[in-house]
Amino acid sequence: MDIDPNSGFPGRGFDGFDFQGGVGDIFDAFFGGFGGGGQNDASRGNDLQYATTITFQEAAFGVEKEIQITRHETCATCKGELAAPGTSTERCGNCNGAGKVRRAQNSIFGQFVQVVACNVCKGRGQTVKTPCPTCKASGRERMSRNVMVNVPGGVEDGMRVRLSGEGDAGSSSGRPGDMYVTLSVKSHPLFRREKEHLIFDLPLNVANAALGTTIEVPMLDGETEEFDVPAGVQSGAILRKKGKGVPNLNNGRNGDLVAVVTIITPKKMSSHTRELFDELADALEADEETHSPSNGKSWVRKLKDVLAGENS
Ligand SMILES: [Zn+2]
Ligand SMILES: [Zn+2]
Repeated sequence: MDIDPNSGFPGRGFDGFDFQGGVGDIFDAFFGGFGGGGQNDASRGNDLQYATTITFQEAAFGVEKEIQITRHETCATCKGELAAPGTSTERCGNCNGAGKVRRAQNSIFGQFVQVVACNVCKGRGQTVKTPCPTCKASGRERMSRNVMVNVPGGVEDGMRVRLSGEGDAGSSSGRPGDMYVTLSVKSHPLFRREKEHLIFDLPLNVANAALGTTIEVPMLDGETEEFDVPAGVQSGAILRKKGKGVPNLNNGRNGDLVAVVTIITPKKMSSHTRELFDELADALEADEETHSPSNGKSWVRKLKDVLAGENS
């Protein structure tokens, strides 16, 4: 099974991902059934396209998902032989059982002889006297099936999983087509993905951000991760845990777990908290005047100076 991230040609690889059989697919698309003089009209079955929705967690960790499909399978009654069971086929009179006929064609290069599949027996060499009642001598019947799709961890929205040989059965002993399942990944209210990196916003109140803290964060897999938040952390700061993300599809290595700090100021306060903030505001201003390198200059004053300098 392969993963194909983009729609478009089946088998188009990406970013060095090993996509087996890709070239074969493209060749089949162009040359399948073309000039099949030698074979008995062995035509490959159609590829099938399906879509399924998976959760954010399933995309991150992988899932085995059962989907219901409908496809053409080789007729179980006649085993694809087209004739009703117990009846025999007859040698085709048009091609004398060869399954192919020679056809002379004139072109600007002169006459040449082409060997093509017999159109009476469709290249089988045999004609059916009593057609199979199940498939009416088509050799195939439409079946509903439940197919297991093995989705590896690390897939992203819009990627396709290829199930080799799970498409329509081929006719006249042609090999079956493939099945492509396009994945639609649901978003998560708290987590988001950037390739193999798992990202979330870590809200901190002003006190914890200023003083630093250790915080336990519940993860997608039900575990918790402990984050050490340094004192004086700023909004937008990134706390990273290497290897705690989701697998990279190319190399299997896990990406990172990334917490983006967001400092939350209280919207509603008790009168006690408000008093503390009033006190804090005075204290912070005093601190700034003491510790600021520009000694005593307020932020507004500094800004004025900088703008004046730029404009002169
Ligand atoms: Zn049949
Ligand atoms: Zn024939």
